Amino acid sequence: MKKQNSKASERKLSAKKKLARDQLRDEVFWALTLLHSVLGTCDRLRTCSSAEKNKRLVGFGYNGSLPSQPHCDEVGHLMIDGHCERTRHGETNLRINTSPEDLRDSIVRVIATPCLPCMRDELISFGAREVYYSGIYQNAKGKEIIEELAKRSNVELVHCDIDWVSIFQKIFNRLSEPGGAFFNQGFKIKLIKESV
Ligand SMILES: [Zn+2]
Ligand SMILES: [Zn+2]
Repeated sequence: MKKQNSKASERKLSAKKKLARDQLRDEVFWALTLLHSVLGTCDRLRTCSSAEKNKRLVGFGYNGSLPSQPHCDEVGHLMIDGHCERTRHGETNLRINTSPEDLRDSIVRVIATPCLPCMRDELISFGAREVYYSGIYQNAKGKEIIEELAKRSNVELVHCDIDWVSIFQKIFNRLSEPGGAFFNQGFKIKLIKESV
């Protein structure tokens, strides 16, 4: 009886560890997606999408001009009907940067709200299984329709309210624990959230 109990508690512990590991992976993947968005070249919104397959990040795409064409940062926006049309959206770049096999049944994370063309022509079309997006972008084209579109296509679309400070603090703390890159250098980083 005692043995059974300890086995049960072992199982419970390993399930707990697995859950913590899954959560850490999710947070690190969000952080990496956010970091890539910094490379976006339209300052109306710098975005990025990433794709996860079999617990690995298999691709990223941030928004930017076509290769060899000028960026919004350099020559200003190309406004048509209230939208900047100079950049190719992150979701399209994700599809271009990633193999079709990796994209099929992938889990996609998006910084800001996917627009209707990206939802329809990229995420649903390349076969994303789940789409998580953080933050709301009010100017996303056709954002009212994306939920219905996802539902009809059996794609799980979930808005995530992400606490970036807590995610990055956790990552920085881990880097200062034994084995972490900051540990041997003997420092830790403390984040402070301030209004801009
Ligand atoms: Zn722009
Ligand atoms: Zn888009």
